Amino acid sequence: MPNSAFPIAFSGNPLWRLAEKRDGASLAQAIAHPSAKFICFAEGKPVIRRVSDESVVCLFAQNEILPLSPNMGEAVLLGHLENVPHIAVAVPGQADRLTSPFDSSDIRPLFTGHLLSPPTLGEIAQASALLSWHQGCKFCGTCGAATRSESAGYKRVCTGCGKEHFPRTDPVTIMLITHENQCFLARSARFPEHMVSCLAGFIEPGETIEEAVRRETQEEAGLRTGEVTYVASQPWPFPHSLMIGCTAEAENADYVLEKDELESGGWFSREDVRAMMRDAHSSGAQVPPFGSIAHFLIAGWAEKREA
Ligand SMILES: [Zn+2]
Repeated sequence: MPNSAFPIAFSGNPLWRLAEKRDGASLAQAIAHPSAKFICFAEGKPVIRRVSDESVVCLFAQNEILPLSPNMGEAVLLGHLENVPHIAVAVPGQADRLTSPFDSSDIRPLFTGHLLSPPTLGEIAQASALLSWHQGCKFCGTCGAATRSESAGYKRVCTGCGKEHFPRTDPVTIMLITHENQCFLARSARFPEHMVSCLAGFIEPGETIEEAVRRETQEEAGLRTGEVTYVASQPWPFPHSLMIGCTAEAENADYVLEKDELESGGWFSREDVRAMMRDAHSSGAQVPPFGSIAHFLIAGWAEKREA
């Protein structure tokens, strides 16, 4: 069931990261802790044990995961919860060929199906982002030599030139554009059938959040916007983005869709959006699932009284 106390999935990670205390010994100490808990990934997918149709487990004791041959040398210390270390680690082999009782899952159904508690989903986002970065940073971009993991998995150091490489977070703006009492929603061909959502796009180097919101809105829909208001953000582990949710009022209503990005879109009233949220819109249009920041932005607007 959706947990209304956590309207933004992947937020609410409860771990104490103790970033300033990470050193060369932190990971080994954490792995040696008798109660340490492990989140495993196979081919980038969380390893789970299904408890029921509504629930899965993804935190395991070390003795439970030994049959999976985890690569502890490349593990990442996520943080501590009640003094117990939580560690992310990749396991070899194919995600769809794990031996019972283990299985794997894409991350999306874990959050859209509410199969994990919201705090644990936050840990999954942290683990996925870090392990994905490690996977893509095995060689130095400066000299091409191999890199090795240090600082409990928060740094890779080149074995050739010594350059330090740090984990990435890629900022993305996602914005609900409004005009008088309507909001602009659009769909990309990549979306699930019937889904419409907010405009979104990566922040480019040398750009502020506000500039990215205005540029993307102009490029994708031909809409000019003035003041941009920050609303909330969301870790988005596909693979390591930060969604920065904003609202902005359009200065013009006539829009021109960027057809390479969007296959349809337009203005919708609060009545339309409320019907979409009940899955009762005459066109069949639906908003993104509860837990996504798009849903949070759209629902927040739809629930407001008309000005
Ligand atoms: Zn190098």
